[in-house]
Amino acid sequence: MKFKFTDYHVHTAKWSADIEDNGPNFEDYIKIAEKNEINVCFLEHYELYSIEKDKTNPFYNGNIDNYLEELDEIKETYDFIYCGLEVEYYKDREIELLEFMDDYEKELDFIGGTIHEWISGYPITSKKKLIKFLEKKRMKEIIDEYFETSEMMINSQIFKNICHIDTIFRYINENDIKPEEDCDISEERVLELGRLCIKNNLCIEYNLSGKRFPIGRPFPSKTIIYQLLKEGGKFFVGSDSHSLDYFESQITNVKEAYKYLNSI
Ligand SMILES: [Zn+2]
Ligand SMILES: [Zn+2]
Repeated sequence: MKFKFTDYHVHTAKWSADIEDNGPNFEDYIKIAEKNEINVCFLEHYELYSIEKDKTNPFYNGNIDNYLEELDEIKETYDFIYCGLEVEYYKDREIELLEFMDDYEKELDFIGGTIHEWISGYPITSKKKLIKFLEKKRMKEIIDEYFETSEMMINSQIFKNICHIDTIFRYINENDIKPEEDCDISEERVLELGRLCIKNNLCIEYNLSGKRFPIGRPFPSKTIIYQLLKEGGKFFVGSDSHSLDYFESQITNVKEAYKYLNSI
């Protein structure tokens, strides 16, 4: 790769359904990345249930081959681009996920395992959907299920890299949707997930997207990152950009994050 540091987590409008059609695409990010001397890994959402059911999903109907082709072409011109995917884990789809990894792991530069939802249609990373989910299920249960599902994903060893390990707190935190009294929101709990990653030899994301939300901290927090580093944790850094402005504003922070990781 051309540059020293890599932002491993960037989404485009064409390939990630949670960005407006007029949002940024490969070339837009590439221009800024080149100017600011940082490698970029495109890490688009890849969610089995949505891909199978939703014709508007960018990866519907085997479109992954077009994604790979497009990026292959771009990589012929630019030597600071990685082709990746943020693949949603579903506990009832482990066999299909393993098959997917068999077929595509070699074609991609980087794959991150991730959890946004465990009941299709109720992602905890959308505030609107989370509020709906909270009408159906108690907050304590939602948080417990998030941690249980995360444990399953990590222990499954399907993925070598794990994205934003405590993203359940994107909206459930003191600055936003306040945690109810019986909820276990302890740092210890997140640390245990991190330790499980270390035990399974998986890389953990230092995800900078928290700056966009009232929580205002990375996922996981700096204290947890520090502790996990001390215990031998390996990290990659991602801005989780869904817009050009955010991407550009985070480049210095991505570089600083790597310097911090290397200093411990
Ligand atoms: Zn994500
Ligand atoms: Zn993402």
